[in-house]
Amino acid sequence: MSEDVPYRESERWEHKLLSQLKEEREFTKSDKDIMQGFVDLLVTLGVYPESTPAMERHGYTHLQMVESWGAHWHEWREPLSCPSCGSDWRDQESGPPFKREIGIYSQGQDRTAAWKCPDCGEEMPR
Ligand SMILES: [Zn+2]
Repeated sequence: MSEDVPYRESERWEHKLLSQLKEEREFTKSDKDIMQGFVDLLVTLGVYPESTPAMERHGYTHLQMVESWGAHWHEWREPLSCPSCGSDWRDQESGPPFKREIGIYSQGQDRTAAWKCPDCGEEMPR
């Protein structure tokens, strides 16, 4: 691992920005201008991509991505691949945070209880 201090400092700064944006989003009356400021900074810093295929296709702005999917929308959530066949679950045609696995909803638990691999069909508990 590199001991490059300036790099690690900037990483910390980025984490701070992301968590502040996350907090702002969770306020009952979140301030759109403040959020937009954070979003612009994160794009400038290269934390957020300039655009993703899904953003282009649907005309989503960075702020809409944050509002809909959270401050960490730019990261694909684990698991990134199928534990059974190893296929990549990241939806490269849409970009993050979209993934290809199929969520299996449980009415009893009122949440997605399992995942199904779109390639091998294997089901696994969430
Ligand atoms: Zn699979």
